[in-house]
Amino acid sequence: MIKVVKFGGSSLADANQFKKVAEIVKSDPSRRYVVASAPGKRNAHDEKVTDLLLQCYKLVKDKRDVTATFEKIKNRYRDIIRDLDLDFSLEEEFSGILTALMHHAGSDYIASRGEYLNAKLLAAYLQFPFIDAEDCVLFDENGRLDTEETNAELRSLMGMHEYAVLPGFYGVNPDGSIRTFSRGGSDITGSIVAAAANADIYENWTDVSGMLMADPRIVDDPRPIAEITYRELRELSYMGASVMHEEAIFPVRKAQIPINIRNTNAPEAPGTMIVPKATTDMSDTVITGVAGKKGITAIHVEKEMMNAEVGFGKKVLEVLENYNVSFEHLPSGIDTMSVLVADKAIEEFKGAITADMVKKVNPDSITLVENLALIAIVCRGMVNTEGTAARVFGALAGAGVNVRMIDQGSSEQNIIVAVDEKDYKTSIIAIYHEFVK
Ligand code: ASP
Repeated sequence: MIKVVKFGGSSLADANQFKKVAEIVKSDPSRRYVVASAPGKRNAHDEKVTDLLLQCYKLVKDKRDVTATFEKIKNRYRDIIRDLDLDFSLEEEFSGILTALMHHAGSDYIASRGEYLNAKLLAAYLQFPFIDAEDCVLFDENGRLDTEETNAELRSLMGMHEYAVLPGFYGVNPDGSIRTFSRGGSDITGSIVAAAANADIYENWTDVSGMLMADPRIVDDPRPIAEITYRELRELSYMGASVMHEEAIFPVRKAQIPINIRNTNAPEAPGTMIVPKATTDMSDTVITGVAGKKGITAIHVEKEMMNAEVGFGKKVLEVLENYNVSFEHLPSGIDTMSVLVADKAIEEFKGAITADMVKKVNPDSITLVENLALIAIVCRGMVNTEGTAARVFGALAGAGVNVRMIDQGSSEQNIIVAVDEKDYKTSIIAIYHEFVK
């Protein structure tokens, strides 16, 4: 059994957190490859080391003094080393990084040093070898991960070490320069390492006990999700519910490796299992979760006999394409077609887009409805459960919410409804309580 375990920034923010991490790793010998983030926030007012590094980069660029900010970074690591009572030093690394900084090293290189230093420190503490991501996470000329080469390099390095710590978040370009993933990218590294190691499970340790059935800022104390499929996860994260970098799903999903979201501060909690295929047809709550997003505009296009006009839809969508606007949903009726787009995406071109659509398809009417919210009810058992939709609409009606549009994708994994933004919270609360008593 091989487990790849990734610890996020808050799990490695200070010595106390390092101790928890060591306990977790050492309590299970199958936890063999550990991926580390940079030290995150110790409290709500704290700064992440990655942010401090990026501040340093900017200061140098603006020809300003970096001493104070760089000192803060050094002290984060020095404090951890001192509080763990470790006979270990990063002073040489610090001066190397400062020199690079003063010689205008690239921003990715600077940003990546948080992970580099933290993984070295964690490796020393766990007494595991350190494998540098620079030697095995390889990007191609276009800045995309070279999956095959990366797998081969990772496998050969991991083959040499039974246990190891690797820094998350970065890899190397073909020219030898450092490249980072987007922010939060250590999740991606963990997933890549899990796939290369052919791990039985990818454990992603963070500061919450898994995914919740609804946004805790809207619903009081929502239940955690015990099991969710990759597909359901995708639907919920599209709506903004997320505990992990979106792209981190793909490497493990391809290799059919389950992800377990766990809480470093509550290691006894089972967390959420993200699985390729559900072990049960349906959760005991019928729905897996409910999530939503605001800021949606609907463009309603109406034209008699639209269904008989070949290429009608294509022409409408082409107008959006010309303005580089992607659409979110496309519910349609017999003589109507509605295109749902993000408010932000069309903000500047509303008038121009409407005018172009009039020119292209000559509709009977075209109307824009702004300030809508989408709500997705995600539920793998929908196909087999009668009355789920009825319960959703009953709950919304009971809460006095007017449903503006309905969209049930062909996957039957979810029902999406559009409501007015002002009804956003009420809708989520009503749906949640309909299914969770
Ligand atoms: N340290 C990086 C960030 O703050 C990457 C990560 O933590 O995953 O975005």
